[in-house]
Amino acid sequence: LTARLSELANIPAETIDGVRIQLSANIEFPDETATCLQRGADGIGLYRTEFLYLASSEEPSEEDHYEAYSRVVREMEGRPVVIRTLDLGADKMGHRPLAEQEHNPFLGLRSIRLSLRNLDLFRPQLRAILRAAVHGDIRVMFPLITTIGELRQARMLLNVVAQDLEESGIPHRSDIPVGMMVEVPAAVVMLDRFIGEVDFLSIGTNDLAQYTLAVDRSNEYVADLYQSSDPAVLRLIRQSVEISDQHQTPISVCGEMSSNPGRALLLIGLGVRHLSVPPSALLRVKKAIRSVSIEQCQAIAARVMSLEAARDVDLYLLDRLSELV
Ligand code: PEP
Ligand code: MG
Repeated sequence: LTARLSELANIPAETIDGVRIQLSANIEFPDETATCLQRGADGIGLYRTEFLYLASSEEPSEEDHYEAYSRVVREMEGRPVVIRTLDLGADKMGHRPLAEQEHNPFLGLRSIRLSLRNLDLFRPQLRAILRAAVHGDIRVMFPLITTIGELRQARMLLNVVAQDLEESGIPHRSDIPVGMMVEVPAAVVMLDRFIGEVDFLSIGTNDLAQYTLAVDRSNEYVADLYQSSDPAVLRLIRQSVEISDQHQTPISVCGEMSSNPGRALLLIGLGVRHLSVPPSALLRVKKAIRSVSIEQCQAIAARVMSLEAARDVDLYLLDRLSELV
């Protein structure tokens, strides 16, 4: 099976009726790019940069950020690399102690909220991203955007940082694409307003499921309730894809949902044309994509959207997967 899967590395992720699906990889460390390339990734759809931060005992400097990003984008040889800015807090705690313990860290000072309140932490990262962008196709993505104000603040800071680099004569690019994660229900509800202010979107189904279903993604007592295939989550995904289509703004799915072959086919049926998955899932997702037509995926989505429980969705998807792939 592994040998047959590896033959897939160098052929495109294309449905049997010839529709090309972008299949990118999620990484945490620069040394993962080799595996991504070996397995034929179209790019890096999500670079979780906080792991750079968590891995060392000291706060990473601008140079540390710059070296890591430059290495990744150089090794990807012109393929797009989406760098997500720091998503610290909650499940990704750094060594930097928070002022106080939070009762509900997932609802607390995490991710973009933490970055916007700690500019000494955020600014070096943004500078490094713009500097590394001279080496290839770097795009920047902000996590956990909940209000339009947060998006504007983050973009404004990016502009200020670009100006500083310009004034200091430091090589950089200031025109890189800017995107946001769609992982809070409020962002889906307001997406028609956000969308004019971004170049691309990526759905984070891990957090979207958590915040839609009011289930802590790390709490084992409610793990059975934590399902990205819950019909409520699926409606939010469908709505996001519809809005992105209306505005012709690219959208991808980078949550774990897209690494499950059955769920990946469902996402394609809902109109998603770009999936980003962990390197270990690249080949199995590609195999599923190459076994189906868009029409079959649309039929799967139509049926799934009539179901009322995550369990029914997953059983149906398993069934279809065993017939088609
Ligand atoms: C997500 O929330 O789906 C996501 C991709 O980000 P993370 O898992 O890093 O929160
Ligand atoms: Mg997330």
